[in-house]
Amino acid sequence: MLHNDQLAQWDRENFFHPSTHLAQHARGETATRIIRTASGCHIEDRDGVRLLDAFAGLYCVNVGYGRQQIAEAIAAQAKELAYYHSYVGHGTEASVTLSKMILDRAPSNMSKVYFGMGGSDANETNIKLIWYYNNILGRPKKKKIISRWRGYHGSGIVTGSLTGLELFHKKFDLPVDQVIHTEAPYYYRRADTSQTEAQFVAHCVAELEALIAREGADTIAAFIGEPVLGTGGIVPPPRGYWPAIQAVLKKHDILLIADEVVTGFGRLGTMFGSDHYGIEADMITIAKGLTSAYAPLSGSIVSEKMWSVLERGTDENGPIGHGWTYSAHPIGAAAGVANLKLIDDLNLVENAGKVGAYLNKTMHEALGDHPNVGEIRGEGMLCAVELVKDRDPRTFFDAANKIGAQVSAALLGEGVIARAMPQGDILGFAPPFCLTNAEVDEVVGKTVKAVNAVLPAGA
Ligand code: PMP
Repeated sequence: MLHNDQLAQWDRENFFHPSTHLAQHARGETATRIIRTASGCHIEDRDGVRLLDAFAGLYCVNVGYGRQQIAEAIAAQAKELAYYHSYVGHGTEASVTLSKMILDRAPSNMSKVYFGMGGSDANETNIKLIWYYNNILGRPKKKKIISRWRGYHGSGIVTGSLTGLELFHKKFDLPVDQVIHTEAPYYYRRADTSQTEAQFVAHCVAELEALIAREGADTIAAFIGEPVLGTGGIVPPPRGYWPAIQAVLKKHDILLIADEVVTGFGRLGTMFGSDHYGIEADMITIAKGLTSAYAPLSGSIVSEKMWSVLERGTDENGPIGHGWTYSAHPIGAAAGVANLKLIDDLNLVENAGKVGAYLNKTMHEALGDHPNVGEIRGEGMLCAVELVKDRDPRTFFDAANKIGAQVSAALLGEGVIARAMPQGDILGFAPPFCLTNAEVDEVVGKTVKAVNAVLPAGA
């Protein structure tokens, strides 16, 4: 077996890590951690260090680690048929079955699913299909896409533009012209702290209306949003946000893409976030929870309203000029079928709702009064702890102090993985759905210790 030092050296010399400070890592200032195995909610590295993964990888290993049923389905598929493409009507039992299983679970206005590999490429597909749709309808100017600041939709060229986080734009010449941003539905960080939740929703609506008026509704094709802001800070929307936003979009004939890469398949305690908030989307993006990350697979679910136009487009123009080699990859599809069966068999959506509620309640009880905790918020199996310098008046820490990262490092020292969200001192929790109440108690107890270690007396 290779020595860890050897792997760390090869890693620094050869491996271009995503979302990493390249220079610091090359200098050895960030550790190389080689994960060896995992089971349930725990991962284990090559040094034998066992960690409770309260972020399910990147909120994707929803059924937990080490599920043999999924591993066996993948192995069986690889042995029988590792690959065949899905162009021109080809498919496999797994890919056809999975498309039916997805549509059986999706909101009733949905019609077809196009498969990709990850969330970013699925959102690229969505934007292309929306442009195609408006061209077929004879509306060549109606192409801009509205996204929210703090939204996360991927890191491609258009999807990195949709992502409303500065780090994903800076020095990449993004966003591209077709992408415009509007207010994040982030009540705790509202500029005018005197606003009530209802007033803040009205403000978000007014901002959207003003943006549409400035740009012209005839230039705007779609609005994209996550039911709950994820990477931007784990922020459930203020009450009444989605119905109010949808009313504006309907009025201006603007399509809605619900990016359910995080919320799809149970994370909020409902099959989709759209079910939870009564969102009626024209397209739904799915990825992570579709296979619980046992294999890369994503999907763009297309509504009947859009599908009928896309079909017409091919009658006029020939086959759709869009396809990936790995669309509906049989191994990903086999993983998806086994994963969705497992979610049903173990009632994991219900468990995510119940244990997630316990996680949020326990976190509130334990840290709600801490002088440096500004807000604890969540929905289903999502929870965030926002750290502040002062609660009243609400004062944030200087970003340079990296308080969120310090707390997550202290928590890691206690054996629990939470994520310091990329913008703001926000500790994010998104555990696997099989988390138990006892594991919640451990996560919360250790979070209290970590917060107190970094912020002892209300620093
Ligand atoms: N949309 C959302 C809501 C996401 O959270 C992510 C990934 N975190 C993506 C899209 C992009 O997915 P991927 O990283 O698989 O490309």
